Amino acid sequence: MFFSRRIEHCQVCGTRVEYRIPADDNRERAVCPACQHIHYVNPLNVVGTLPIWEDKVLLCKRNIEPRKGLWTLPAGFMELGETTEEGAVRETDEEAGARIQVLGLYSVLNVVTAGQVHFFYRAKLLDTDFNPGPETMEARLFTQAEIPWDELAFRTVRMTLQNYFDDRREGQFGIHCADIR
Ligand code: ZN
Repeated sequence: MFFSRRIEHCQVCGTRVEYRIPADDNRERAVCPACQHIHYVNPLNVVGTLPIWEDKVLLCKRNIEPRKGLWTLPAGFMELGETTEEGAVRETDEEAGARIQVLGLYSVLNVVTAGQVHFFYRAKLLDTDFNPGPETMEARLFTQAEIPWDELAFRTVRMTLQNYFDDRREGQFGIHCADIR
């Protein structure tokens, strides 16, 4: 889910860009010296789910870089034309081949360092017949005791899982917001 978003060449004409503060702006942008196109790069939304079956959580073992071989909740970049919830359901289908009922928004995590906002929805699995897509080596259920804490792919996944097990012990599920800088 992480990659460098620094622009080197103009997306319109291909000329090497210059970084400078355009007139009437207050931060550096990639500006094309040939066609004057200004590139605005804004944070991306990553949408995913926390799929639950009885006392277990569904995790996916990543088959792609970055963090290949590590475990994640099903999540990926939001696409144009969909809502955050629709994107989360789509990613759960694509990465795990899992059918879910969404229960509600669960965590909103600003990953400031990566220029991303991660949204996770709490969801109930409708069955345990998984069919992982090419981005996933394996999709399986874990009890709290089985969670591979040292082999999780992303900090936002770790935070969401920790919040979930804390909330489950308390018997109530709120919405969790946190910032990673
Ligand atoms: Zn240009």
